This record gives sequence, structure tokens and C-alpha cells, in this order.
Amino acid sequence: MSEDVFKKIVSHCKEYGFVFQSSEIYDGLSAVYDYGQMGVELKNNIKKYWWDSMVLLHENVVGIDSAIFMHPTIWKASGHVDAFNDPLIDNKDSKKRYRADVLIEEYMAKIDEKINKEVEKAAKRFGESFDEAMFRQTNPRVLENVQKRDEVHARFAKALNDNNLEELRQIIIDCEIVDPISGTRNWTDVRQFNLMFATEMGSTADGATKVYLRPETAQGIFVNFLNVQKTGRMKIPFGIAQIGKAFRNEIVARQFIFRMREFEQMEMQFFVRPGEELEWFAKWKDIRMKWHKALGFGDKKYRFHDHDKLAHYANAATDVEFEMPFGFKEVEGIHSRTDFDLSSHEEYSGKKLQYFDPELNKSYTPYVIETSIGVDRMFLSVMSAAYCEEELEGGESRVVLKLPAALAPIKLAVLPLVKKDGLPEKAREIIDNLKFDFKCQYDEKDSIGKRYRRQDAIGTPYCVTVDHQSLEDNTVTIRYRDTMEQERVAIDKLADIIADKVSMKNLLKTTL
Ligand code: ATP
Repeated sequence: MSEDVFKKIVSHCKEYGFVFQSSEIYDGLSAVYDYGQMGVELKNNIKKYWWDSMVLLHENVVGIDSAIFMHPTIWKASGHVDAFNDPLIDNKDSKKRYRADVLIEEYMAKIDEKINKEVEKAAKRFGESFDEAMFRQTNPRVLENVQKRDEVHARFAKALNDNNLEELRQIIIDCEIVDPISGTRNWTDVRQFNLMFATEMGSTADGATKVYLRPETAQGIFVNFLNVQKTGRMKIPFGIAQIGKAFRNEIVARQFIFRMREFEQMEMQFFVRPGEELEWFAKWKDIRMKWHKALGFGDKKYRFHDHDKLAHYANAATDVEFEMPFGFKEVEGIHSRTDFDLSSHEEYSGKKLQYFDPELNKSYTPYVIETSIGVDRMFLSVMSAAYCEEELEGGESRVVLKLPAALAPIKLAVLPLVKKDGLPEKAREIIDNLKFDFKCQYDEKDSIGKRYRRQDAIGTPYCVTVDHQSLEDNTVTIRYRDTMEQERVAIDKLADIIADKVSMKNLLKTTL
């Protein structure tokens, strides 16, 4: 996959009503997007897949929906006021702003790419007898690049951990990283930039209070920990899940819905006994990876990436990365957040946030494992994996979204062969029967071939064509999106055929 494919996916999203630039008629608002008629269905299905996997499949996980506005001291306690910063650097020639850490990460990714290309080339040259491990250990060019990468990596990790902004700049200088636009190395100093949006609550005459738009949904869970535990009589270990909007004033907001200023998160905080957190961290890593892989896009598209710099609250952290068209990128973070947040809220609020453990006969502040995934990034990963251009027989081609059927916006299109002779009425009758269970679409415009292409492009797994024979024997032609095969089936069998494949239940079963 390449940047080129990525551009095609972006325009496909627009053309078929998945994602629009926000405020487009006013030339848009940077890094803010709207979901269209197809996008909202896909997004809702992704959210349902996550929600059900958390809240239905785990007896000890419950949901909440907390407000976006919260008491401003919460963000002091959570560390966001003081430490939710990105290191930014400007190029004096292009006047463009970059994240210093991202520039260095991309530089290291390029070295990795070089190494992989070297390995691929050799694999082709040597064929079956190729011993990849041996090649990686002995090839001088590979070794040289690995050494180069490791050196940069070690300096980078140390600079991040020491919060050493001069050293970050020095790495950029030493690696001769150039601005992709101006092509120069004329860099400013590195500065810290806080990512939270602030606004005012109450009228200014009374002395309005500065409040923040939440940069993560997690804090709404922490401050409700005791409310849920007490009213739900929850016993540790237990989790609280939430889906909601988050806001970050991202410095570099490129790459479509990958990095937005307003986005949506699906987060779950799992409260455990102190000392048991790393065991639960491993368990949740496993559960979450299975959830991703169950979509069937191929296991090779996923990997874990452990953090170089642990956030101020974490004692273990990893990302689930997905192979986007522009490389492996974080889709989900899994963090062992210790008791940092609850303890800090105890300190700042003066309220106890402890749990009495009847088995241990003592009270403690629980430790927390967090799983945090961006709905929009998940959406982009699903779109990227599903987007497919196929050459067909006879020189034709088609664009098809090979979406998992349970996530597809439309499950079934019903197409009368012609717009007369009672076929539209028969088609409507089918929809009227099935619309309680599946999102259906009726389409009578253009040739059947064109209608199939339109449904392929939005990922509809089933198309049903109603023809004259349907009126006589109550059968229709069902066409399968991926294979394009068609078969004649009885109308009263349709519900069963479709239900099996589009069922969220069946998808959820494969995550276990
Ligand atoms: P990044 O390093 O890419 O900025 P992060 O590590 O700051 O991401 P987290 O704070 O761990 O991200 O947030 C959890 C999840 O929320 C991420 O894995 C991602 O899916 C999503 N997310 C974070 N920031 C954005 C954003 N600006 N736009 C869309 N999704 C985001």
C-alpha cells in the first residue's frame, strides 16, 4: 500500500458519503471531519462491536456516559495541565510546524524500511534456501543500519524520558533530518505545547471559570469510580467502559481522520488489586488483540509496539499498531496506569477513593489497566483494510469495500430488474419484511451492473435482484459481494442466509 492508495481511500470516503471535511462550504476547518450517511452506520457498528465485546461479554465490565465538561481541577490532578504537551519545532524556511518526536520516529521508520527492503531483495535472490535470521545477523549493510537505528533510538528514548528538548533538537540536526517542504535544515528550538482546548463557563461579568474540553474520556471514569462501585455493588476486579468525544489541539493535524482535533474514544478502565496489575495488563493485551484480529483482515496487519517513554502515570504501556497505507500506526493504547489517577484525585479532592476488599479484609486504592482506542482511527484502519481495486474479466474493474459483514453500513440491497411489471412492489415487500433486522437499501436506477458496483463501493455484502420469475415462484437472485457469485434462492430463505453472516453475535464469538 502507498500514499497513492491512501489518497484514493480519502476521496472514496467523500464520494460515497462516509466522511466529509467539516464546514466544507466555508473551505473547511482543519483536522475536523463529519461522518456522512454511510460513515455514521459504519462508525456505529464499530462502536457496537467494541461496546458489546466489553459490556456484554464481561460480566464485570459496566458502562457509563460522563459529561465532556468537568471540574477544571480534574485536569490539574490528572497531570494534563502541566504535562500534556507535545514537543514542537518549526522550520524557519517553510514556516511549518512539526512534532519533534514524530520527525525522529519517521526517520527511524525509514531506516527500518531500508533494512526490510534489503531483506526482501535477498529473499528474492536466494529463493527457497534463504535464511532470513542468518542474513539479518551477518549482512554488513543490514548491520550498519541496525546499529544506526539503535543509536538514534537510545538517544531519543533518553531525551524523551529526561524531557531534554535541546537533545531532541540535536538528534534532528545530527540525523540531518530535512523539512519535507522546504528541504532545509533550518530548525528553531524545540518548545513544549499544551494540547488542551480551554473555554469559559458562566458569564464573564461574574468571573467566568476556565474549563477544558476533555482531552480523554478516562478521567470521567476515574471520578465516577466510587459511584459505580457502590451503586453497582461491583467487586474488584471490575471495569468501567465509556465511548465519547475527546478534543486535542494537535500541532500537526494531517493524515485525514488519523489525527483530528475533535475525535471519539472508546476507553475502559479496569480496576485491580495492587500487585496484580501486570498480570491483568497481559490479559487485556491478549483480549484486545483478539478483538482486532477477529475482523479477519489478516494477522500480519497488527503488531504491538511497547512505549519508549512511559507516560507520567504508567508502569507498562503498549500500542496496538495497524498497517495503515502510510505504515504501521497506533490505533489503540493499553496502559497500566498504577494508582496514579485515583490517588491524585484523592489528594486534590480531599475525598477517599478506596475500595474495601472483603477477601483481604482491608482497604486500598485500586490499580488500573486502561484500554483506549480511537473510534476514528479504527474507522480508518477498517476502511484501509477493506478498500480493494479488482480487475475483472473482460477488462473491467471494480472498487469494492470488503468490510466484515457485521460492520457494513448496508447489509442488503434490493434491486428490481426493471421499474415496472410489479417488480418494484415485490422488492418493497421484501424490504418491508427484512427492515426490522437489517439495514436495507432499495435501488432501481441504472443497469443492474451499475447498481452492483455502487453497492460494492459501499461494502454491501448482499444484493438481491427481483425479476419476473420472482413474481411466479417467490425466488430471487442473491449476489455475494466478494465472490460476485449469484444463486437463486427462495425469498423466505433470505433472512436466514443474511442473518448468519451479518450477525454481530457471530463476530463477537470469534473474539473469544
Ligand atoms: P498519538 O501518539 O498518535 O498522538 P496518543 O498516544 O497520544 O496518540 P492516547 O492518548 O493513547 O494517544 O489515546 C488513545 C487513542 O485515542 C489512540 O490510540 C488513538 O486511537 C486515539 N487518538 C488519540 N489522539 C487522536 C487524534 N488526535 N485523532 C484521532 N484519534 C486519536
